Amino acid sequence: MINLSEELKSRISIEDVISRYWEEPDRAHRVKCFAHNGKDRNMLVKNGFVYCFVCGARFDIIGTVQHLFELSFIQACEKLNSDFNCGLPIGKKLTRSEMEELKRAEAQRIAARQAAENRKCIENKIFINVCDELHLTQAIVSALEPSKPIDIDTLDEELIDAYFAQLKRLEWLEWLADTLLGHDTDCEWTYTIGADTRVIYDRLISGDLTI
Ligand SMILES: [Zn+2]
Repeated sequence: MINLSEELKSRISIEDVISRYWEEPDRAHRVKCFAHNGKDRNMLVKNGFVYCFVCGARFDIIGTVQHLFELSFIQACEKLNSDFNCGLPIGKKLTRSEMEELKRAEAQRIAARQAAENRKCIENKIFINVCDELHLTQAIVSALEPSKPIDIDTLDEELIDAYFAQLKRLEWLEWLADTLLGHDTDCEWTYTIGADTRVIYDRLISGDLTI
């Protein structure tokens, strides 16, 4: 059984629906609530839903259209289908090839969602790894730090080399963590590796870059 409403939701964002039929969300993704007609922007528009912090109303794109235009579920689907030119065969008897086409689209959507979830999971593991290494290196650096006042004559050269190597590593890990969080960085790696989070994760996953 093909799920036409899921197909609509995959093609039309809640932001587009709210902007078109209600009002433009502000920078905090908020609008006035159309369910309780509030004056303040208490309704959050995000992740495929609207949610009102005051009255608790929660709608997806179809529920939103149902509520705004007082439509039935199928009428709301038809309105979205036609207003956003989705061309889905809603309320029609499907031909065999239309059915096949929809099944293919649905399978693709499920595969894409699964792939995105897997990727997110791998990225999270890598990031946790970076943070663990960062904390470990911070501990090593402070353990190796020469005690002050520094007496040049008694410095152990090997220890000092190790200290500087760990300092460099710490700098690298700090840069990596910052960049993966999307913060602006400005040091040698920003220029040699770049600041594109997706590309850096790609390279870490492929082993082209190591933590
Ligand atoms: Zn409300």
